[in-house]
Amino acid sequence: MTTFSLNGRRALVTGANTGIGRAIAVALAAQGAQVTCAGRRACDDTVAEIEAAGGQAETLLLDFADPMAAQDSFAGAGYSILINNAGIIRREDSASFSEADWDAVMDVNLKALFFTTQAFAKEALATGTEANVVNIASLLSFQGGIRVPSYTASKHGVAGLTKILANEWAARGINVNAIAPGYIATNNTDALRADPDRNQAILDRIPAGRWGDPQDIGGTAAFLCSPAARYIHGAVINVDGGWLAR
Ligand code: NAP
Repeated sequence: MTTFSLNGRRALVTGANTGIGRAIAVALAAQGAQVTCAGRRACDDTVAEIEAAGGQAETLLLDFADPMAAQDSFAGAGYSILINNAGIIRREDSASFSEADWDAVMDVNLKALFFTTQAFAKEALATGTEANVVNIASLLSFQGGIRVPSYTASKHGVAGLTKILANEWAARGINVNAIAPGYIATNNTDALRADPDRNQAILDRIPAGRWGDPQDIGGTAAFLCSPAARYIHGAVINVDGGWLAR
């Protein structure tokens, strides 16, 4: 029977303080999951929002300045959903882009994502738990962007990892997929929305005619973790108001 319910599931969402991560945590809880909201500071607002709606949530401190920070988070904890959402962006001309801005972005967006997923999957495989991983990719998993070389490299990497991990684990009970959000109104895109020319150029190209709302991503994540999506493996799903169709 097809169902969209996440009742009885335990989920960990990285970067759950703000923006897309917060909206995903709220959406998973609304479908019945018990959600651990991970952040480099306590996710008190997200937990309060979930509890006010009658859901279950807790906060966990995880700072991917150390990409191996989540190694001990999964053993014996009963998680069956992992959302790799934490991510950062650094903007600078490629001709003058620094090694520090390269390493910072690759560590959070790619290295932490891989090793967090590895730790999650080790536990799921060892316990025979059917599980879902959703990675937050980007339009820059497909396109080049401008002045964001480490971000583009990391998000192309996220799309690639989504596929290899699906290849290895699809027959072993773990669905690995990604969402490529379009232009979503969050901290990540403040600088773009503050620049009137960039803002208008972006809006002119979006068939839906508006910036995305974090909730637009939350619903897709909840669907991908649900039994209704059980035959979806290795997909990178655009949720972009039609941007890539243009
Ligand atoms: P955001 O509000 O800035 O969220 C980023 C989250 O990542 C924050 O919760 C942040 O925590 C967390 N984070 C950053 N560095 C971290 C670290 N070292 N350890 C742990 N957590 C860390 O922006 P967002 O737009 O929601 O971004 C969420 C994801 O969506 C990112 O992967 C981003 O690349 C992706 N994305 C966004 C868009 C968009 O248009 N907004 C488009 C495509 C993809 P703090 O609150 O502590 O900073």
